Amino acid sequence: MVSAIHNNLQRVREKLADAVRKSGRNDEDVRLVAVTKTYPVEDILEAVRCGVVSIGDNRVQELSEKRSLWSGPSIEWRFIGHLQGNKVRKVLEFASTVDSLDSLSLARALSRVAEEKKMRLPVLIEVNTSGEESKHGTAPSDAAPLLESVMKECPALQVEGLMTVGPLTDDEAEVRRAFALLRGIRDSLSGAFGLRLKELSMGMSGDYEWAVDEGSTMVRIGSAIFGKRT
Ligand SMILES: *Cc1c(COP(=O)(O)O)cnc(C)c1O
Repeated sequence: MVSAIHNNLQRVREKLADAVRKSGRNDEDVRLVAVTKTYPVEDILEAVRCGVVSIGDNRVQELSEKRSLWSGPSIEWRFIGHLQGNKVRKVLEFASTVDSLDSLSLARALSRVAEEKKMRLPVLIEVNTSGEESKHGTAPSDAAPLLESVMKECPALQVEGLMTVGPLTDDEAEVRRAFALLRGIRDSLSGAFGLRLKELSMGMSGDYEWAVDEGSTMVRIGSAIFGKRT
């Protein structure tokens, strides 16, 4: 029997491919990260059977439980949630990237532990592009000083780009504005620091088509694949 996850993934991939084509980009320019918070390991296994290679989770405890139960093939586990300094060690046991770097103190802690583990940790800087107080991320104007300090003080971190969560609204123009802002910040940081910063992680179940059109290289999709969270 074909699973709901299989069908949902097929639909998401078709819409994603349409959006990629319409924006004049190539399929390989945009990666799909399946976001698995609240969904069980069996659902992750099914998604992986259907070709998913990249998983995002935003809760430390949940990620570590799922990782200890994981018997599937080797895949990429991205940490995408707010992270406290005292959880860094635990996260780096399980995650291969941290996409939600939002402060220098967190960067220092990540770099210290990564160095101990002799790993180079890919990270994305999370920017609060909507100004909503409930959102994590550095303010747009703080992104440059944060990047500068990370480059100076955190040798084990490799900043590969930026991440944002779009505003919680159906207003297309407002959502697009936030994504365009992230792209603009990336372009100006790239120029100022002579870095490539190739990744723009933006777009979730409700807004990934707009995000792709605004230059997203990585969409993070949960409920459109796994069903409504309860
Ligand atoms: C939950 C979550 C997602 C996925 O949200 P959906 O609307 O279910 O697609 C993406 N990014 C982050 C940071 C999340 O916490």
